[in-house]
Order: sequence, then C-alpha cells, then structure tokens
Amino acid sequence: MGMNWTITEADKLYNIERWGDGYFAVNEHGHLCILSTKDLKGPCIDISDVIEEVEKLEIQFPVVIRFHDILRSQVININKTFNKIIEEAKFAGHYYGVFPIKVNQMREVVEEVLDAGTPYHCGLEVGSKSELLVALAFNLSAQALTIVNGYKDQDFLRLALLGRKMGKNVIVVIEQYSELEELLQLATEMEVEPIIGIRAKLTTEGSGKWSGSSGERAKFGLTIPEIIQATKYLQKNNLSHTLKLFHFHIGSQVTDIRCIKDAVTEGVRIYAKLKQLGLPIDYFDIGGGLGVDYDGSKSLCDSSRNYTLREYAEDVVYILKQVCDLEDVDHPHIVSETGRAVASPHSCVITNVFGKISTVVNNNNNNGDQSFLLKSPGEHILVNDMREIHDELNQNNFQEIYNDAIQKREEMISAFKLGIIDLFDRAKIEILYWKALAKINQFVKKRDDVPDELKELDNKLSERYLCNFSVFQSALDTWAIGQILPIVPIRRLNEKPTVLATLADITCDSDGKIDNFIGHNKHSKTLPLHELKEGEPYYLGLFLTGAYQDIMGDNHNLFGSLNEIHIYSDDDDPSDFYIEEVIKGNTSKDVLAILQYSPSALASSVKKILDKQIQRKKIRPREGVRLIDFYEKCLHEYTYLKK
Ligand SMILES: *Cc1c(COP(=O)(O)O)cnc(C)c1O
Repeated sequence: MGMNWTITEADKLYNIERWGDGYFAVNEHGHLCILSTKDLKGPCIDISDVIEEVEKLEIQFPVVIRFHDILRSQVININKTFNKIIEEAKFAGHYYGVFPIKVNQMREVVEEVLDAGTPYHCGLEVGSKSELLVALAFNLSAQALTIVNGYKDQDFLRLALLGRKMGKNVIVVIEQYSELEELLQLATEMEVEPIIGIRAKLTTEGSGKWSGSSGERAKFGLTIPEIIQATKYLQKNNLSHTLKLFHFHIGSQVTDIRCIKDAVTEGVRIYAKLKQLGLPIDYFDIGGGLGVDYDGSKSLCDSSRNYTLREYAEDVVYILKQVCDLEDVDHPHIVSETGRAVASPHSCVITNVFGKISTVVNNNNNNGDQSFLLKSPGEHILVNDMREIHDELNQNNFQEIYNDAIQKREEMISAFKLGIIDLFDRAKIEILYWKALAKINQFVKKRDDVPDELKELDNKLSERYLCNFSVFQSALDTWAIGQILPIVPIRRLNEKPTVLATLADITCDSDGKIDNFIGHNKHSKTLPLHELKEGEPYYLGLFLTGAYQDIMGDNHNLFGSLNEIHIYSDDDDPSDFYIEEVIKGNTSKDVLAILQYSPSALASSVKKILDKQIQRKKIRPREGVRLIDFYEKCLHEYTYLKK
C-alpha cells in the first residue's frame, strides 16, 4: 500500500466529488460506491459488492449497471428545482418536464422516469414515428404533455392526431411550414382538433459541440416571417386557439450559460409579441441542452458546463418573468426537454482489464533477463554508445542526452535495415533506449521548464491496459466527438496508483482505445491505475454513460449489446441494494441474425465441411461431433471475452 495515500487523495485524483455530483464516493474499503440520495448517511451501495453478486450469478463482463434510484432522484431534482425557483420568483406558470425518449429509449428507463415524474406531470418528447408509437402507449397523467418534434410525414402526423383521439395532450411542433398545412388537412379528415406548437429558428446559437442546432443555418424551425405566415394561416382557418406552445432548442450539452440566457431572452420576446397579437400560447418550451459536467471542471470545455441546474432554472424563470412583466403578457408554463442531464448519471459500464501491452522497459517478460544489459565481446559499437548514453544520464544533462538517445536509436534502425546489426544487439539497444527514456522522464517530472516533447514522455512510456469492451458499443462519444468520460477503478482506491496507462478495447480497430482522461487541471493523455495482480481481477467503471451511448453504440466487429444489471437501493438489506432485473446482452447468433446470417445455416454449412474432413479421414467422427457442438455452443454465447 502506498505511503500516506488516503481515499481523499483518490477522490481528488479521479475528481470523483466534482463529476459525481454527490452520487459517487469512495468508502473506507477503498471501493467506489453509490449514494443514491446524495447523503452520506443514506443508502450506500458498494459497487464492488455489486460486482461480486454479478460474479456469483455467473453473468459475464462487461456489464452495464443501472442505478434506478439515481434516475428517480434526477427526475425529482429537476422538478423540485424549477418548482422552488418558480415559487421564489412568484412566477405564475408551472414547470412541465418532458423526457426526450431519444436519450435512452429502453423501456425500463422510460418507465422509471415517468413513474418518478408522475407527481410532476412529467411527459415525453419524441422525434420519430417509432418513438411516438412508444409514447402513445404510456398512460401519462392528465396534465402531462407529449411533444412531437422532428420532420414529419403524413403517418407521423396521423399518429399524433390518433393521440388526440385518445384524449392525450399531444402537441405537434411545426418544424417546417408545410407541416402546418398538412396537419390541418389531416385533422379535418380525422375530425379532431390538433394542439400546435411552433419551433422558432433563433439567431442565438448554442455553445459546444451541438451549436449548429440553432442559428440561421439550423436544420429545424421557422423563421420569423414563416411564424407570421403560420399565424395568419391559423387565423384564416379559425384555428388560432390551437396554437399552444412556443418552442426552441439550441443544441445539446450547452457549455455556456450565456447562450441559454440569450436564447431565452430572444425567445420570450417572440412569445410576448405573439401573445400581444392575440395568440393563446400557454407553454414556453426551452428544449434540451442542460449540460453534464463529465470532467468535473465546471468550465467551458465541451465535456463540461459553466453553470449548475439551479443557475439554469433561475435564469430561465427570472428572464421569462422580467420580459413578460415588461411586455404585459401572462407568464407561460415552462416546458423543458431535458434528457442528457436527467439520464446520464444513472448508468455505468464495468469492464475487466485482462492484460496489458507494455513498452520494452516495463515488460516483465525480459526484465528478469539481465544478459541483455551486460557488455559482451563482439557487440556492435552502437550498443556500447547507447549503454554510455544510459549510464551518463543525470539531472543536468538529460535534455541533451534525450536527443542523443533518439538519434542513436535511429542510427541503429538504419544499421539494422542494412544488415549490419543482429537481433541480439538490436534487442540490447532497445532495452537501453527505453530504460534511458524512463530515467529521463523521472527527471522531467521534477521540473516545469522542459520542452513539450519531453512532457509527452509520460504518454510514450505509458502502458496500455486491455479492457474487455468495445468503445464503439459502450462509449461511442469518446471516439466520435472526443467526449471525456470519468473512468475510475472500482477497487483499491486506498492504494496509490503507480502505473500511467491508456485503455485499449478488444475491437480490431486502432481507434478502439481511450487516451483522453480527466486530469488534474486539464485533460490528460494517461490515467493513473494500479499494477495488475496475478489472479485478481481489476475492474474499471466508465461513468455517466446513461444518455445517448446505449442507442448510438454499434456492433463493430460484431460485439453486441451488454449484459445489464438493474439495481435498486434497499435500506433493509445489509448491502443496501438488490438486483431487480438482469437483462442478457446479445449472443453471437443475435448479432449475426441482424446481418442476415441464419445461425442454423451457418452451423449446417460448418457441419458439411467437417463431414468431408471425416470422409477424407482427416478427423475422426467422434471429434467431428465435438467440434460442431462447440461451434454451436459459441453461437449461443456472449460476444465478449470470457475471462
Ligand atoms: C435531442 C433533443 C433534446 C434533448 O436534449 P438534451 O441536451 O439531451 O437535454 C431536446 N429537444 C430536442 C428538440 C432535441 O432534438
């Protein structure tokens, strides 16, 4: 155990308190745990215990763990926050949250959100026919809204009107002008009155990765001339009273609170002017965009945000109140389509590290063999040169020596290509070279005034931990958009981590890696981890993965969906939790079937080929049977590594 290392230091190193937002902490055993009520005295689920339970149930890793209490807590939290500020501000409207299904469509997740949100009349937001098919089947409270966004064809509009026939508050948000004419025509045909929303194309742009969702070049929404045209069209058809909602969405993961303030300020003016024209709009829908502080930096970085939920809600409520009062119009009800911030903390991916790729110097395979380092007769002069470089190194000359070492190694490679150096001499030079770099890195760490090239040594010398998962299935945004996710060892947090590592997944794709992490003050290319111990599994958790990652993840290399464990906290249970549900991930045959391979056809084809081998007496009949059984067994198993 590292000297003077405490769990407080682990918390600081991995920034747990800051990205964890009260839900995550390190317990006295050095295990990461979940505080579902954000209260140290409340239930505390030791994730290490959950892993033990998963092992006992013989469920294979990697697994997704969903903490339903966190999901509930997040839903309650956003509602309570808005309600509290509405009360403090003496604002006349109510808050109605709608959960954007695209963030996480899994039935258990949507059900949990709606259940926790029932007292607050939580509704749903959809952006496609399939999502609307789901939303229509949920029994929402009488006041809850179903908001229909996205481009719409006739059947999409008909489905929305079907919802009206069912007596639901389905609001069709007009994204492009032609949808309005089509909607009114279909409504007449179906003899039902629609409820209409209008999405405005604001000039205010968001900040962060999704800023293109708003502004003049945005894909969605009506311009001001189109909005006026729409209101005239409604008036002409005597349907002005059906326009109930004003909507905008400036993009997901808005990093800067100023963008939110600007958008609300612009939006509420449009709302007020429309009210003054006599349109009975009741709802002001601010879309999504509430950010998640993935790296805990509270900054303008794309993986962070420079505001809290409370500040967000305060800005929305107070700006609305001020402008409405100035314009002398009624306060609207506030709707938000907050998805990412509600869903992301509730799930994590647990992967087991099953090995590592080391640089030559860290590799235990040849550390024992000192013969590589000893001077031997007849060795090439370059070996001797590199040995001198290695031996002469000290804190005063390490910058020069670094350059010499690089140069000598290049000379060695050229010499090797020309056939002048043999394998043994090359091996010696490589070991000496890496040993020199490792020593130089020690000197670099004691100094601030070194060139960037030398600061990169940590990365060059880092180990690669091999993790049983696929980045493309379970952490897509780390690859697609450079998203930072908090990654923390589940156990041994009371031990000082002594290895700097990057992560490699099991896909055969060189992009299947993670090499950008939460660092001390800025992001870091390496993650401090513990030395692996023989026979002791080492588990890493990837956190805040509950929004978007599940559905956007793909089957690259035919790695399929993960086994899932759904957990509730239970104060009466000694371990403070119980597993409510286990959902099996894809087997190989599931993934193959999606791509039109029939597992039985595959098996019979393999059997035919084996039969021929039996006829040719290349294998025995009994062995043939064993082999085909094994092939079929593999078709029915999990797609990830078994160890
Ligand atoms: C994606 C989307 C949302 C959800 O945004 P979050 O940033 O996840 O809260 C809300 N509204 C619309 C229209 C969207 O397209």
